[in-house]
Amino acid sequence: MKKNKTFLLEARKRIALVAHDNMKGELLDWAKYNKHTLRQHELYATGTTGGLLSDELELDIHRLKSGPLGGDQQIGALIADEKIDVLIFFWDPMSALPHDPDIKALLRLGVVWNIAIACDRTTADFLLTSPLMHSKVDVNLPDYQNYLNRKIH
Ligand code: PGA
Repeated sequence: MKKNKTFLLEARKRIALVAHDNMKGELLDWAKYNKHTLRQHELYATGTTGGLLSDELELDIHRLKSGPLGGDQQIGALIADEKIDVLIFFWDPMSALPHDPDIKALLRLGVVWNIAIACDRTTADFLLTSPLMHSKVDVNLPDYQNYLNRKIH
């Protein structure tokens, strides 16, 4: 039987945080509550979200560009390079945004690479309190070999 490839996640996870403007208050509040847990991991964020998290909570963050200026795509590229393990993405369900295609692309890549994704506070709570967040864990790496070997006519 063919064995699925796995990828070992370290106990210290690489977490990307993104919040749309209407959701930044919610993310800040959640991050404040979970500050001590978040500190144990390596954090990435889009520009404005990252600025708020580092200014208000003094969290150490790799800040990327602001989302609409390419930050979502930068996070997507890190996911495709297997450099992000968890995405906390509080996107705004009540507004259309200029970078909607980037948002869809980011969520898509998260699923393509089978990373853990939370798009609301309840799921973020479930995720952060999972024992898997604090231990080494083997995750399945999707097998795209058939796709890569497909015949192009
Ligand atoms: P921001 O980007 O953190 O720079 O506001 C978030 C987004 O809208 O994708």
